[in-house]
Amino acid sequence: MMELGQRSAMILGEGGDDGWGIYYRARDLIRAGERVVNLTIGEPDVKTDPAIFDAMRAAAAAGHSGYTVGPGLEPLRRAIAARVERMTGVPTAMENVIVTPGGQAALFAAHMVTLDPGQAGLYCAPFYPTYPGTIRATGARAIEVPTRSSEDFQPRAAAILQAAAEAQGARTLLINTPNNPTGVLYTPETMAAVAGAVREAGLWLISDEVYDGQVWSGRHLSARALPGMAERTLVIGSFSKSFAMTGSRIGWMVGPAAAIEAAGVLATATTYGIPPFIQMGALHALSLGEGFEAAVADPFRRRRDIAARVLGNAAAVRLIPAEGAMYVMLDIRATGLSGAEFAARLLEAERIAVMPGESFGAPSAGHVRVALTVADEDLAGALERLAGFAAGLAR
Ligand code: PMP
Repeated sequence: MMELGQRSAMILGEGGDDGWGIYYRARDLIRAGERVVNLTIGEPDVKTDPAIFDAMRAAAAAGHSGYTVGPGLEPLRRAIAARVERMTGVPTAMENVIVTPGGQAALFAAHMVTLDPGQAGLYCAPFYPTYPGTIRATGARAIEVPTRSSEDFQPRAAAILQAAAEAQGARTLLINTPNNPTGVLYTPETMAAVAGAVREAGLWLISDEVYDGQVWSGRHLSARALPGMAERTLVIGSFSKSFAMTGSRIGWMVGPAAAIEAAGVLATATTYGIPPFIQMGALHALSLGEGFEAAVADPFRRRRDIAARVLGNAAAVRLIPAEGAMYVMLDIRATGLSGAEFAARLLEAERIAVMPGESFGAPSAGHVRVALTVADEDLAGALERLAGFAAGLAR
């Protein structure tokens, strides 16, 4: 066969264990007829509301079926701008918004318009597993900024500045709050420190806020709302989580108009627009209002409370305080096992599948991530058994 280019190998990087082994083993067990509680994957167990599909169907039937080149349908861009302005207080116009096929494509666009080959993009760890590959896809190096379990995985200015100084040509920092995989919400102090470090190091801030509608206590603070940050911040948003629309593949990037224009150039060379009936469905979703988003988020809040209740006094498990998103992170180092060993043994012994912390970076080694995506009673039962299993190992 003709030799391929290096791009896909670059994206994959060194690889290593990505943790999906547990997911595949769980899937095989389920296929073999075993009952497994699957807490690995971040897919809401809520389906897209039928009213949103009705709006898509009606739009397609009414003729919204042609090309939609450019940054997205104007009514949708305006509605996204209005949501962003309402939630952040930052004046936001249509010119600040591009519609993308999901938050993932927005992450790619944000890095493509800010990084050049040979430069470096920073990202905080623990991290959502696509991050390093997305940065490397631009031809830049991906550099990890560590955080600590003992500090509830809140990023620190000193670690950002050190990584920026050590990496030649650092241009961007990617953060994520509320956070996947930890469920942590960055505090106002953290956000101020991150903003200060980003300004000092002369970086763009790329702020993944796809979980902005899933905040359990305190308030979601958008990076773009911090003094002096709007001109150097690109915010990633998505319909996937807030509206349970993962399969519709629709999200957005918000930022300075020039960055949105640059992302439009990239879109012409890649997606050539988003299906108009999907955009109309998203517009309808936004029109359902804050109450609708709150109802989609509600099961995850309830299950976070269940996790806090069940694991509050667990002997060998520390629950990292979770304030948002749809995950909790458990420190299981008291068992003496790595996250990967714990996850493998938990699956064999208890038929419960969780993601090893190692798949989200070194700082979450010795931890496991639990997705809050199964029914309340199944989650409660699984966490009780997990805590008992961990206690047995620690004895
Ligand atoms: N960022 C984070 C932190 C995520 O967890 C996800 C989805 N799991 C995404 C971005 C991308 O989501 P989507 O492309 O479906 O919008």
